[in-house]
Amino acid sequence: MATTPTIPESRSAGTVIIAGGSIAGLLAAAACQPYAEEVIVLERDTLPDGPAPRPGTPQVGHAHGLLAGGRLAAERLLPGFSEDLLAAGAVTKDDLGRSGRWFIGGGLLADTTIGQDGMSVSRETVESAVRDRVRKLDNVTVIEGIDVCGLLAEAGRVVGVRVRHPGAGPMEETMRADLVVDATGRSGRGVGWLRDLGLPVPREERVKIGLTYATTHIERRPDDIDGRLVSVSGPVPTVPRGGVAIAQEGDRWIVTLFGYVDEHPPLDEDGFRAYARQLVNTDLGPLLASRPLLHAPRGYRFPDSRRRYFEEVADLPVGYAPIGDAICSFNPSFGQGMSVAALEAVALGDALASGLGAVRTDYPAGAAEVVDRAWAMVTGADLQIPGVEGPPPSAPAWVAAYIRRLQRVARRDPVVAAAFFRVTNLMDHPRRLLRPSIAWRVLARG
Ligand SMILES: Cc1cc2nc3c(=O)[nH]c(=O)nc-3n(C[C@H](O)[C@H](O)[C@H](O)COP(=O)(O)OP(=O)(O)OC[C@H]3O[C@@H](n4cnc5c(N)ncnc54)[C@H](O)[C@@H]3O)c2cc1C
Repeated sequence: MATTPTIPESRSAGTVIIAGGSIAGLLAAAACQPYAEEVIVLERDTLPDGPAPRPGTPQVGHAHGLLAGGRLAAERLLPGFSEDLLAAGAVTKDDLGRSGRWFIGGGLLADTTIGQDGMSVSRETVESAVRDRVRKLDNVTVIEGIDVCGLLAEAGRVVGVRVRHPGAGPMEETMRADLVVDATGRSGRGVGWLRDLGLPVPREERVKIGLTYATTHIERRPDDIDGRLVSVSGPVPTVPRGGVAIAQEGDRWIVTLFGYVDEHPPLDEDGFRAYARQLVNTDLGPLLASRPLLHAPRGYRFPDSRRRYFEEVADLPVGYAPIGDAICSFNPSFGQGMSVAALEAVALGDALASGLGAVRTDYPAGAAEVVDRAWAMVTGADLQIPGVEGPPPSAPAWVAAYIRRLQRVARRDPVVAAAFFRVTNLMDHPRRLLRPSIAWRVLARG
């Protein structure tokens, strides 16, 4: 049963300001509110009342998977969140291990059971459900149509933000806070603000993947893809392209095709359909051939995955904490960004429960632990694709060979498939794939 977070009698922070009111910012607000007198979310966009696109999140029109580990983390912060998604039309069916068809590493993974239902829903509805819950929290205020343009610092400590109202001229105001959470996304605005003040900034790493997305919607019928909610085609070095169909509210599929480096999914209907037939996955081609596209495919370019190593900055100022894409923006085809943000928000709340000092001393490492898990998986796979450029993977070469073997075994071994799904859904740490009960199956059957 869902439980409400305990509200301690003495809160460890007065005012927490969150810059950016997308998934990471809203979940950060939920995480901080039990431990702060007030939480103020400052969002540049005017926010819609329900699920709808807006300028500050241009990615929402493309397929988004919400991983089980991310949904559980969001549920912990906002009890009732999953019920809200279902009420808003999210589609659920069966255990996640049997709810989709995953062609990963060149083959179809076995059906299995991981102990969590599969749930499919659009990115707009996820954000709308989070926003509605957060708006109901008594000490949280969401202010929209306000642009955070810098930080305020005193004696090396961040003590607030500078803001202005778009369209109201260059005049700025200041807002003071005990903690400023930077949830402004992948562009690194917060790092620029730290630099402007002469404060230390993190090292940044980029893996150039040159990813191109193309997305459309089609009607969804109950017996499509064997009644499943998801069909995924992961890339392999010889086929550096992929795609996904995810069931959406309103009996629709969202279908996104993607390619690395020089592979560009076409934006014309015939080319889009032809591209889908060239995937490892055998579902998407026939599915797209069977009915009209509801709109012409729309493109999106994602040049690189990027990570900022805040945990390495010894003298990161007190009063500043980044979250979400501001820390790490992953190859989106792995579907991790929202879920990593949710797990980071849990880490932020846990730190703030111990006081502002712990946000400075413990949270960067806590967030890095979450990011490490996803980053290692994503970059380890991406760096095997010809033409992808980046620093060598942190894991030794035998790990990549072991994972390839594990994926082969997972095509016919439900126990190994379940272990793999639990890790890729951020429910378990990747080291669980090396435990003896899994390793012997991989080594004996690979
Ligand atoms: C094409 C694509 C597909 C993706 N697919 C998936 C997926 O399948 N699964 C998944 O989990 N994730 C996916 N992601 C990532 C996911 O969208 C993000 O991780 C998620 O939105 C959380 O990001 P965020 O809140 O940190 O930043 P964003 O969503 O980028 O939000 C930043 C917010 O800050 C606001 N803002 C910016 N500057 C200011 C300012 N100066 N003042 C005030 N407000 C400001 C913006 O308006 C925006 O609302 C995908 C991303 C892309 C690009």
